[in-house]
Amino acid sequence: MELLPNFSLLRPHSITEAVAARAGAGETRFMAGGTDLLPAMRRGLTQADTVIDLSDVAELRGIAADDHGVRIGAGTSIEQLAAHPLLARNYPAVAQAALAIAGPTHRAVGTLGGNLCLDTRCRYYNQSEPWRTANNFCMKLSGDVCRVAPKSDRCYAAYSGDMAPTLMVHGAVAEIAGPGGRRQAPLAEIFADDGIAYLTLAPGELLVAVNLPAAGGWRSGYEKIRTRGAIDFPLVGVAVALRCTDGRLHDLRIATTGTDSQPLMITGLDEFLGLPLDDALPRIDKLLRKQVGPMETTITPATYRRRVVPVLVRRLIHRLMAD
Ligand SMILES: Cc1cc2nc3c(=O)[nH]c(=O)nc-3n(C[C@H](O)[C@H](O)[C@H](O)COP(=O)(O)OP(=O)(O)OC[C@H]3O[C@@H](n4cnc5c(N)ncnc54)[C@H](O)[C@@H]3O)c2cc1C
Repeated sequence: MELLPNFSLLRPHSITEAVAARAGAGETRFMAGGTDLLPAMRRGLTQADTVIDLSDVAELRGIAADDHGVRIGAGTSIEQLAAHPLLARNYPAVAQAALAIAGPTHRAVGTLGGNLCLDTRCRYYNQSEPWRTANNFCMKLSGDVCRVAPKSDRCYAAYSGDMAPTLMVHGAVAEIAGPGGRRQAPLAEIFADDGIAYLTLAPGELLVAVNLPAAGGWRSGYEKIRTRGAIDFPLVGVAVALRCTDGRLHDLRIATTGTDSQPLMITGLDEFLGLPLDDALPRIDKLLRKQVGPMETTITPATYRRRVVPVLVRRLIHRLMAD
């Protein structure tokens, strides 16, 4: 049993207080549900002198809808996302991904913000301290070399949160608060393709909410493969959103998780729109295999994960077009 190290706990009641607390001295970390942060602290993967518990910040919680779309507070639980009828109806990929996260107890406590800001994962990193010591560490923590790509000057740990790709295919915009005030950015822009610096949030910035534009006739879905049927991160997760008529695609968005150090929005799909599906699908397969970049970060080979992406995409496209 690995023990949780000592730390101070702060419980702000507003976003302003939370941001101010983060600017304090020493190593500080935000905590929402704590389902990822606390195990990481126990394993020595994350250090914090002060943990800022966001669970008393009421402004971070809740799902509000109007004609322009939906605003989801970063402190909203994954369980609420999975059970919300409007999300299930208008943004089905979002509700499906939420339901596929971890197990019921994690979903009751874990939050959207914690899921989006989830640390990247790798089989050389998500290990106990004795294991990592015996294996001479890795670049992500205490070592010099990326074990999956020893000649590389960057870390290839994989982004593995389920929610991000589903929100990205629906055009999500992130609301962020920080020492410099509030700002908004397309959700995809808060991520970077680097296993260590995987978020572009500035020091002290807090994710406040995610805004989804009105559904506008988009159909969407999410599929993931994982080692076990439950309580497991995606080896690959795929979100698809599309609009179609008469068996032809008019709009198509695809995003993946588990494949790269960031949730990856596939580009260049417009050239396949309007084609008969039988012509479009092989070309989409090729494009996907070219753009996704899984490495040996899991026990499942990267080549397998690269080949699974088009399979999941085809499955989703067929399902959504048949709906
Ligand atoms: C056994 C197990 C299985 C799991 N399976 C899955 C899975 O299948 N899919 C999956 O996606 N996840 C999985 N997880 C990870 C985790 O439970 C979920 O991702 C959960 O949604 C994280 O939310 P949280 O609120 O608990 O985050 P926390 O642990 O509180 O925080 C996670 C990170 O986000 C930061 N953070 C939290 N809120 C904010 C905010 N508002 N602004 C800025 N930074 C913030 C924290 O500082 C921390 O770095 C699993 C975890 C376990 C233990």
